Amino acid sequence: MQTVLISGGGIAGPVLAYWLRRHGFAPTVVERSPGPRPGGQAVDIRGVALEVVERMGLLQQASRVRTQMRGMSILEPDGHEVHRSTEATFSSGRLDSEDIEVLREDLVRMVYEHTRAGVEYLFGDSITALDEDETGVRVDFAHGPSRVFDLVVGADGLHSTVRRLAFGPEERFAYHLGSYLSVFSADNFLALDDWQVWLRDGETGFGIMPVRDNTELRIAFGFESAPLAHHLRDGSALRQLVVDKLASVRWEGTRLAEAARKAPDFYCDATAQIRMDQWSRGRVTLLGDAGYWPSPLSGQGTSLALVGAHVLAGCLAQANGDHRTAYARYERRMRPFVTLNQVLATENSGGPASEESVAHAKSALSLDS
Ligand SMILES: Cc1cc2nc3c(=O)[nH]c(=O)nc-3n(C[C@H](O)[C@H](O)[C@H](O)COP(=O)(O)OP(=O)(O)OC[C@H]3O[C@@H](n4cnc5c(N)ncnc54)[C@H](O)[C@@H]3O)c2cc1C
Repeated sequence: MQTVLISGGGIAGPVLAYWLRRHGFAPTVVERSPGPRPGGQAVDIRGVALEVVERMGLLQQASRVRTQMRGMSILEPDGHEVHRSTEATFSSGRLDSEDIEVLREDLVRMVYEHTRAGVEYLFGDSITALDEDETGVRVDFAHGPSRVFDLVVGADGLHSTVRRLAFGPEERFAYHLGSYLSVFSADNFLALDDWQVWLRDGETGFGIMPVRDNTELRIAFGFESAPLAHHLRDGSALRQLVVDKLASVRWEGTRLAEAARKAPDFYCDATAQIRMDQWSRGRVTLLGDAGYWPSPLSGQGTSLALVGAHVLAGCLAQANGDHRTAYARYERRMRPFVTLNQVLATENSGGPASEESVAHAKSALSLDS
């Protein structure tokens, strides 16, 4: 049985592990966090990605935990409502669509629970070195003993360690899109009732949605910025920067700043894209955000990860584990789909792409071709 080490236990990693198991491979997932990593706002499962979830037998479960928004308001900087919609929200698109919006952490937990019985999970560890020869890849870990695997897949997100080790520094592949996005939780101090609010104030803006039966808020706060200096990218400095920026927001700035300061799940990163000419080198390949992060502005990160995992596992199975053939086919099949979906992030500066473009991009691949 061929062994495959997958770095990253977010969404792409466990979904790949599921499909590899189904095709007779022996997958191991190494995840840096001590367990499935929580955090994030809502993510969308759209188009062909819905089919992947259905084939995994998770469609009903995902539908049960989908967000239940009734609509959204767009506010002026002083909090005055200028527009409301009961047809669409910025986070999920049209509310009557068959696409599913779920909290990221619900999906992470769901794919983990669905795969844990048949997959070896190594939590709280990380790859430190890869050394490949004709027979396999010797992998060193930060904590566990070194092991040899037939193949290695980097599904370890935007700041992928596998990408750095196999292809070089992140700076070569990350294209900054001019802003940063932070996401964090707070009590529902706005008493939002299945209703989102969106507001833009100068070079900052946010979207707030209630979750968990309206008991909590998930706040997504963005601000325009060139790439930050290294010392500002550190966790506590970045949080302080967000707190300071929120404090000068005119509507609810003080309470939002306080929430960002206290949030246990504070997350912030650049809105960037990973663009690479090749995702594979030797026995190593990249999947999901690690290889082709489209940025949250596209709304398609999760769908690309789900589809990429299904396609990659299928290509490996079809090629009987011959990684050269399989990786070449994976790249040929995924490349046009990735390109179309990455373009969504930049189609309409400062706002979501058009409904037509999203409808075209989300379904521009057939799982069985
Ligand atoms: C905390 C968090 C919050 C997010 N919030 C949003 C959001 O609000 N909206 C949105 O559109 N997208 C968000 N994303 C990105 C979104 O999850 C992905 O675009 C998408 O789901 C594709 O998933 P992925 O599995 O490729 O990457 P991710 O979901 O980023 O998963 C990568 C996993 O790899 C792990 N990892 C990283 N480095 C290592 C390493 N060296 N060794 C082992 N494991 C490692 C991470 O802990 C993580 O669990 C978030 C990602 C994270 C990690």
